[in-house]
Amino acid sequence: MAQVPPPPLVSISVDLEDYFQVEVMAGVVSRRDWEAMPARVEANTERLLDIFAATRTRATFFVVGWIAQRYPRLIAQVAAAGHELGCHSYWHRPVFHLTEAEFRDDTRRAKAAVEDAAGVEAPGYRAPNFSLRLDLPWAWQVLAEAGFRYDSSLHPIRHPFYGAAGAPRQPFRLDSGMWEIPMATAACFGQRLPVAGGGYWRLAPLAYSRWGLQRALCQGLRPVCYLHPWELDPAQPRVRLPPASRFRHYVGLASLERKLRALLREFGSLPIRELYAAELGALRMEVSA
Ligand SMILES: [Zn+2]
Repeated sequence: MAQVPPPPLVSISVDLEDYFQVEVMAGVVSRRDWEAMPARVEANTERLLDIFAATRTRATFFVVGWIAQRYPRLIAQVAAAGHELGCHSYWHRPVFHLTEAEFRDDTRRAKAAVEDAAGVEAPGYRAPNFSLRLDLPWAWQVLAEAGFRYDSSLHPIRHPFYGAAGAPRQPFRLDSGMWEIPMATAACFGQRLPVAGGGYWRLAPLAYSRWGLQRALCQGLRPVCYLHPWELDPAQPRVRLPPASRFRHYVGLASLERKLRALLREFGSLPIRELYAAELGALRMEVSA
Protein backbone atom coordinates (compact mmCIF):
# COMPACT_ATOMS: atom_id res chain seq x y z
CA MET A 1 0.00 0.00 0.00
CA ALA A 2 1.36 3.44 -0.91
CA GLN A 3 2.45 5.47 2.07
CA VAL A 4 0.96 8.92 2.57
CA PRO A 5 3.80 11.46 2.82
CA PRO A 6 3.90 13.51 6.04
CA PRO A 7 2.61 17.10 5.75
CA PRO A 8 5.25 19.77 5.14
CA LEU A 9 6.81 21.49 8.16
CA VAL A 10 7.95 24.54 6.18
CA SER A 11 6.12 27.59 4.89
CA ILE A 12 7.28 29.61 1.90
CA SER A 13 5.95 33.16 1.94
CA VAL A 14 5.98 35.61 -0.95
CA ASP A 15 6.20 39.36 -0.44
CA LEU A 16 4.15 40.35 -3.48
CA GLU A 17 5.62 43.60 -4.79
CA ASP A 18 7.25 44.83 -7.99
CA TYR A 19 11.02 45.27 -8.39
CA PHE A 20 10.89 49.07 -8.16
CA GLN A 21 9.12 49.06 -4.76
CA VAL A 22 11.96 47.54 -2.72
CA GLU A 23 13.72 49.61 -0.09
CA VAL A 24 17.05 49.79 -1.96
CA MET A 25 15.21 51.60 -4.81
CA ALA A 26 13.47 54.10 -2.52
CA GLY A 27 16.19 56.73 -2.96
CA VAL A 28 16.17 56.32 -6.75
CA VAL A 29 12.54 55.60 -7.74
CA SER A 30 10.04 57.82 -5.91
CA ARG A 31 6.56 56.56 -5.14
CA ARG A 32 5.17 59.18 -7.54
CA ASP A 33 7.07 57.40 -10.32
CA TRP A 34 5.69 53.91 -9.64
CA GLU A 35 2.85 54.29 -12.15
CA ALA A 36 5.31 55.08 -14.93
CA MET A 37 7.71 52.17 -14.29
CA PRO A 38 7.56 49.13 -16.61
CA ALA A 39 5.59 46.62 -14.52
CA ARG A 40 6.74 43.01 -14.15
CA VAL A 41 4.65 41.85 -11.20
CA GLU A 42 1.89 40.04 -13.11
CA ALA A 43 4.19 37.89 -15.23
CA ASN A 44 6.53 37.15 -12.31
CA THR A 45 3.70 36.19 -9.95
CA GLU A 46 2.14 33.93 -12.58
CA ARG A 47 5.52 32.25 -12.98
CA LEU A 48 5.63 31.66 -9.22
CA LEU A 49 2.11 30.27 -9.28
CA ASP A 50 3.22 27.83 -12.01
CA ILE A 51 6.17 26.70 -9.86
CA PHE A 52 3.93 26.13 -6.84
CA ALA A 53 1.42 24.24 -8.98
CA ALA A 54 4.13 22.05 -10.55
CA THR A 55 5.50 21.14 -7.10
CA ARG A 56 2.01 20.75 -5.57
CA THR A 57 2.86 23.26 -2.86
CA ARG A 58 1.01 26.20 -1.38
CA ALA A 59 2.30 29.42 0.14
CA THR A 60 1.36 32.66 1.88
CA PHE A 61 1.39 35.83 -0.27
CA PHE A 62 1.85 39.09 1.66
CA VAL A 63 0.56 41.64 -0.85
CA VAL A 64 1.44 45.33 -1.13
CA GLY A 65 -1.86 47.25 -1.06
CA TRP A 66 -0.84 49.43 -4.01
CA ILE A 67 -0.46 46.24 -6.06
CA ALA A 68 -3.76 44.76 -4.84
CA GLN A 69 -5.62 47.89 -5.90
CA ARG A 70 -4.13 47.88 -9.39
CA TYR A 71 -4.14 44.13 -10.06
CA PRO A 72 -7.20 42.73 -8.26
CA ARG A 73 -7.55 39.87 -10.75
CA LEU A 74 -3.99 38.76 -10.00
CA ILE A 75 -4.69 38.71 -6.25
CA ALA A 76 -7.93 36.78 -6.80
CA GLN A 77 -5.97 34.32 -8.98
CA VAL A 78 -3.48 33.75 -6.12
CA ALA A 79 -6.31 33.05 -3.66
CA ALA A 80 -8.14 30.80 -6.14
CA ALA A 81 -5.00 28.64 -6.44
CA GLY A 82 -5.28 27.79 -2.74
CA HIS A 83 -2.68 30.18 -1.34
CA GLU A 84 -3.15 32.31 1.77
CA LEU A 85 -3.29 36.09 1.45
CA GLY A 86 -1.63 38.49 3.88
CA CYS A 87 -0.81 42.18 3.97
CA HIS A 88 2.57 43.81 3.16
CA SER A 89 1.62 47.48 3.81
CA TYR A 90 0.19 49.90 1.25
CA TRP A 91 3.20 52.07 0.34
CA HIS A 92 6.04 49.75 1.37
CA ARG A 93 7.60 52.25 3.80
CA PRO A 94 9.69 51.02 6.78
CA VAL A 95 7.52 50.98 9.91
CA PHE A 96 10.17 52.77 11.97
CA HIS A 97 10.01 55.77 9.60
CA LEU A 98 6.26 56.26 10.22
CA THR A 99 4.25 57.88 12.99
CA GLU A 100 1.60 55.81 14.72
CA ALA A 101 -1.15 57.60 12.75
CA GLU A 102 0.64 57.06 9.44
CA PHE A 103 1.17 53.37 10.21
CA ARG A 104 -2.51 52.94 11.17
CA ASP A 105 -3.72 54.59 7.94
CA ASP A 106 -1.30 52.64 5.75
CA THR A 107 -2.11 49.30 7.37
CA ARG A 108 -5.88 49.65 7.27
CA ARG A 109 -5.82 50.84 3.66
CA ALA A 110 -3.60 47.92 2.68
CA LYS A 111 -5.67 45.26 4.48
CA ALA A 112 -8.85 46.56 2.86
CA ALA A 113 -7.24 46.62 -0.60
CA VAL A 114 -6.02 43.02 -0.34
CA GLU A 115 -9.27 41.66 1.10
CA ASP A 116 -11.43 43.58 -1.40
CA ALA A 117 -9.36 42.27 -4.32
CA ALA A 118 -9.85 38.59 -3.44
CA GLY A 119 -12.89 38.56 -1.19
CA VAL A 120 -11.06 36.58 1.49
CA GLU A 121 -9.49 37.44 4.86
CA ALA A 122 -5.83 38.46 5.06
CA PRO A 123 -5.01 37.27 8.60
CA GLY A 124 -1.26 37.98 8.67
CA TYR A 125 1.00 41.03 8.35
CA ARG A 126 4.56 41.28 7.00
CA ALA A 127 6.35 44.62 7.43
CA PRO A 128 8.30 46.03 4.47
CA ASN A 129 11.96 45.07 4.77
CA PHE A 130 11.36 43.36 8.16
CA SER A 131 11.10 46.84 9.66
CA LEU A 132 8.85 46.04 12.64
CA ARG A 133 10.70 46.11 15.97
CA LEU A 134 9.92 44.96 19.47
CA ASP A 135 10.62 48.49 20.75
CA LEU A 136 7.68 49.95 18.76
CA PRO A 137 4.74 48.95 21.05
CA TRP A 138 2.30 51.25 19.22
CA ALA A 139 2.89 49.37 15.97
CA TRP A 140 1.97 46.01 17.52
CA GLN A 141 -1.13 47.61 18.99
CA VAL A 142 -2.15 48.97 15.58
CA LEU A 143 -1.83 45.49 14.04
CA ALA A 144 -3.94 43.91 16.79
CA GLU A 145 -6.61 46.62 16.44
CA ALA A 146 -6.69 46.11 12.67
CA GLY A 147 -7.69 42.50 13.27
CA PHE A 148 -4.53 40.63 12.30
CA ARG A 149 -4.21 37.20 13.89
CA TYR A 150 -0.47 37.02 13.40
CA ASP A 151 2.54 39.01 12.32
CA SER A 152 5.54 37.56 10.48
CA SER A 153 7.95 40.50 10.31
CA LEU A 154 10.82 39.76 12.68
CA HIS A 155 14.02 38.42 11.17
CA PRO A 156 16.11 37.66 14.27
CA ILE A 157 19.60 38.04 12.77
CA ARG A 158 22.21 40.77 12.73
CA HIS A 159 21.60 42.97 9.67
CA PRO A 160 22.36 46.62 8.89
CA PHE A 161 18.68 47.40 8.10
CA TYR A 162 16.71 45.20 10.51
CA GLY A 163 16.40 45.58 14.26
CA ALA A 164 15.46 42.17 15.58
CA ALA A 165 18.81 40.51 16.35
CA GLY A 166 17.77 39.80 19.94
CA ALA A 167 14.20 38.68 19.23
CA PRO A 168 13.19 35.06 19.92
CA ARG A 169 13.77 32.50 17.17
CA GLN A 170 10.60 30.63 18.09
CA PRO A 171 7.06 31.96 17.50
CA PHE A 172 5.63 33.68 20.54
CA ARG A 173 2.36 35.18 21.64
CA LEU A 174 1.94 38.88 22.33
CA ASP A 175 -0.13 40.41 25.14
CA SER A 176 -2.79 41.33 22.55
CA GLY A 177 -3.28 37.64 21.74
CA MET A 178 -1.70 38.04 18.30
CA TRP A 179 1.15 35.66 17.38
CA GLU A 180 4.58 36.64 16.09
CA ILE A 181 6.01 34.04 13.69
CA PRO A 182 9.62 35.07 12.88
CA MET A 183 11.73 34.18 9.85
CA ALA A 184 13.60 30.91 10.26
CA THR A 185 17.23 30.94 11.43
CA ALA A 186 19.72 28.14 12.06
CA ALA A 187 21.67 28.28 15.32
CA CYS A 188 25.29 27.13 15.04
CA PHE A 189 28.16 27.62 17.53
CA GLY A 190 26.21 30.33 19.34
CA GLN A 191 25.46 32.26 16.13
CA ARG A 192 22.16 32.70 14.31
CA LEU A 193 22.58 32.10 10.62
CA PRO A 194 20.17 33.47 7.97
CA VAL A 195 18.74 30.58 5.96
CA ALA A 196 15.20 31.73 5.22
CA GLY A 197 15.29 32.82 1.63
CA GLY A 198 15.39 35.90 -0.54
CA GLY A 199 18.88 37.25 -1.04
CA TYR A 200 20.40 34.49 1.09
CA TRP A 201 19.07 31.78 -1.20
CA ARG A 202 20.26 33.74 -4.24
CA LEU A 203 23.72 34.31 -2.80
CA ALA A 204 24.44 30.97 -1.12
CA PRO A 205 24.84 27.55 -2.74
CA LEU A 206 21.73 25.38 -2.60
CA ALA A 207 23.54 22.97 -0.24
CA TYR A 208 23.83 25.71 2.41
CA SER A 209 20.11 26.55 2.31
CA ARG A 210 19.18 22.85 2.48
CA TRP A 211 21.52 22.36 5.44
CA GLY A 212 20.13 25.46 7.17
CA LEU A 213 16.51 24.41 6.82
CA GLN A 214 17.30 20.87 7.97
CA ARG A 215 19.12 22.29 10.99
CA ALA A 216 16.23 24.65 11.83
CA LEU A 217 13.84 21.68 11.64
CA CYS A 218 16.10 19.61 13.91
CA GLN A 219 16.13 22.53 16.35
CA GLY A 220 12.35 22.39 16.63
CA LEU A 221 11.37 25.22 14.28
CA ARG A 222 8.69 25.01 11.63
CA PRO A 223 10.64 27.29 9.30
CA VAL A 224 9.02 30.29 7.62
CA CYS A 225 10.91 31.39 4.50
CA TYR A 226 10.39 34.32 2.12
CA LEU A 227 11.04 35.48 -1.44
CA HIS A 228 9.77 38.05 -3.94
CA PRO A 229 8.40 37.63 -7.48
CA TRP A 230 11.10 39.95 -8.88
CA GLU A 231 13.81 37.63 -7.55
CA LEU A 232 12.87 35.13 -10.31
CA ASP A 233 13.27 37.72 -13.06
CA PRO A 234 16.84 38.12 -14.36
CA ALA A 235 15.51 40.19 -17.31
CA GLN A 236 13.96 42.93 -15.16
CA PRO A 237 14.89 46.49 -16.18
CA ARG A 238 18.13 47.59 -14.52
CA VAL A 239 17.91 50.63 -12.25
CA ARG A 240 21.11 52.57 -11.51
CA LEU A 241 21.90 51.87 -7.83
CA PRO A 242 24.88 52.37 -5.49
CA PRO A 243 27.25 49.34 -5.60
CA ALA A 244 26.12 47.69 -2.32
CA SER A 245 22.44 48.01 -3.23
CA ARG A 246 23.12 46.81 -6.78
CA PHE A 247 24.75 43.67 -5.40
CA ARG A 248 21.96 43.11 -2.87
CA HIS A 249 19.21 43.38 -5.51
CA TYR A 250 20.72 41.70 -8.56
CA VAL A 251 22.96 38.91 -7.22
CA GLY A 252 21.87 35.39 -8.15
CA LEU A 253 18.58 36.26 -9.87
CA ALA A 254 19.16 33.59 -12.52
CA SER A 255 19.73 30.86 -9.93
CA LEU A 256 16.70 31.27 -7.68
CA GLU A 257 14.12 29.33 -9.69
CA ARG A 258 16.27 26.18 -9.75
CA LYS A 259 17.00 26.48 -6.02
CA LEU A 260 13.36 27.19 -5.14
CA ARG A 261 12.11 24.17 -7.12
CA ALA A 262 14.65 21.93 -5.37
CA LEU A 263 13.74 23.23 -1.91
CA LEU A 264 10.02 22.86 -2.61
CA ARG A 265 10.53 19.26 -3.79
CA GLU A 266 12.52 18.43 -0.66
CA PHE A 267 10.66 20.35 2.04
CA GLY A 268 7.24 21.20 0.57
CA SER A 269 5.31 24.24 1.79
CA LEU A 270 2.07 25.03 3.54
CA PRO A 271 0.52 28.47 4.06
CA ILE A 272 1.51 29.94 7.44
CA ARG A 273 -1.99 29.77 8.81
CA GLU A 274 -2.09 26.01 8.14
CA LEU A 275 1.45 25.34 9.37
CA TYR A 276 0.57 27.18 12.60
CA ALA A 277 -3.07 26.10 12.78
CA ALA A 278 -2.71 24.88 16.37
CA GLU A 279 -1.56 28.30 17.57
CA LEU A 280 -3.81 30.45 15.39
CA GLY A 281 -6.82 28.18 15.82
CA ALA A 282 -6.52 28.47 19.59
CA LEU A 283 -6.53 32.23 19.23
CA ARG A 284 -9.71 32.15 17.14
CA MET A 285 -11.49 30.00 19.72
CA GLU A 286 -10.51 32.30 22.57
CA VAL A 287 -11.62 35.40 20.71
CA SER A 288 -15.02 33.90 20.00
CA ALA A 289 -15.46 32.55 23.56
ZN1 LIG B 1 8.67 44.04 0.57
